[in-house]
Order: sequence, then C-alpha cells, then structure tokens
Amino acid sequence: MSIQGKKVIEILEKISEKIDENKAYLSELDAAIGDGDHGLNMSKGFKAVVEKIKDDDGNDIGGILKKSGMALVSNVGGASGPLYGTAFMKAAVSVNGKSEVDINDFAKMLDEALEGIKMRGKGQADDKTMIDAIEPALKSIKEGIDSGIEVKEILKAAKEAAYKGVEHTKEIIAKKGRASYLGERSLGHQDAGATSSAIILETIYEALN
Ligand code: ADP
Ligand code: MG
Repeated sequence: MSIQGKKVIEILEKISEKIDENKAYLSELDAAIGDGDHGLNMSKGFKAVVEKIKDDDGNDIGGILKKSGMALVSNVGGASGPLYGTAFMKAAVSVNGKSEVDINDFAKMLDEALEGIKMRGKGQADDKTMIDAIEPALKSIKEGIDSGIEVKEILKAAKEAAYKGVEHTKEIIAKKGRASYLGERSLGHQDAGATSSAIILETIYEALN
C-alpha cells in the first residue's frame, strides 16, 4: 500500500479535526500536572498546518511535512510546538522529493521524528513525555514490517502500542517538561503529550482503514 501526497494532506486535515475534538481533554490532562494549555496549543498548531498545506499540489511529501513542521514551530507557544515541529521537519528529510510513501517510509519518518524529539528535548523513554507513546509505536511498526503482516494490522498494533505507552505514563514520575517540577506528585497522572501522539497515530490508522 502506497500513500500519495494528496492523501497525506487529507490525513493532516483529519489529525487537525481529531485534535480539535480532543482539545478540552488534552488541556485537562495538562492542567493536572502542567499549565493546562496542551489542547489549545495542539489545536492552534494543527490549524496552522492545515492552512499552510491546503493548496499544496501534493507532489513532494517531504515538502508538505517541512511546511507542517514550520507551522507548528512558529504557531505553538508551548514546549510541544518546537518538539512536534522538529519531529515533522526531521520526518520530512527522510521522504524529500517523494510523491508517495509506503510503510517502510513511514517507519523511517517516525524513526527520524522520534530522534528529533529526543535531540531537541533531551529526553528518553520513561521521562513521561510523548516519547513514551511514540517509541513503543515505532517498535511495533518495525516488528510488524519484519513479520510481514498487512499494513492495516501494522498501524492498528502501532496505535495500540502508543495507547499502552500512554497508560504507562500514569505509573512514572515526570523527568522532563513542566510536570517534572512536581516530581513524585506527577505519579498517577497521564501525560498530555503522549496522549496527543497516540491520537495522531490513531488518526493515521483510521484514515487508512
Ligand atoms: P508546555 O509544557 O510548554 O505548556 P504543552 O503543554 O503544549 O507545552 O506540552 C506539554 C507536553 O510536551 C508534555 O505533556 C510532554 O509530553 C511534552 N514534553 C515536554 N517536555 C518534553 C521534552 N523535553 N521531551 C519530550 N516531550 C516533552
Ligand atoms: Mg502546557
């Protein structure tokens, strides 16, 4: 299964809608251990993404993702803007000039995105961040590719792995971001950024289903 540039634009529009639907929920999660703006940040950021790419011809998926990353960096005030922005810009480089991508490209994109987030935020697994959703999803995708299962099944397993990672964030102490100021008091709370990452991965699965 290959995805054309126009489909990538459609998926980004769906992500924007889904993030908007979950705006209050994401901000509520952030309010418990942060400053309560994650939903607003993400919704504003992805609206800017949609605005920036809506007239794109779809011929260069790298270009679409680069524009998306730039829109996120320049329109989101919080920590998540530069982090998601870097993720999209790093993913862009791996598919530069391509008019279609397959599951192997997607694994490469997510790999680069994750490296970008880790580099930019100096974080790692178990810091109670978006990394805790993305890393298990990527691992699951790589395993799915190796075992030769269908793309739909790979993406289903990936979003499930991401949500499992989200659940795990309740059991760990925040070591990065605003929630880290709370130390042990961050225990029992779900990370907002991990949740938005899982929502994005779920939307990709749904859009290709
Ligand atoms: P802010 O914390 O500036 O208010 P947001 O509320 O939009 O920004 O985003 C908070 C989310 O960003 C957290 O839930 C966490 O997942 C993620 N985050 C914060 N710092 C880092 C970091 N250093 N590395 C990875 N993710 C991080
Ligand atoms: Mg916040």
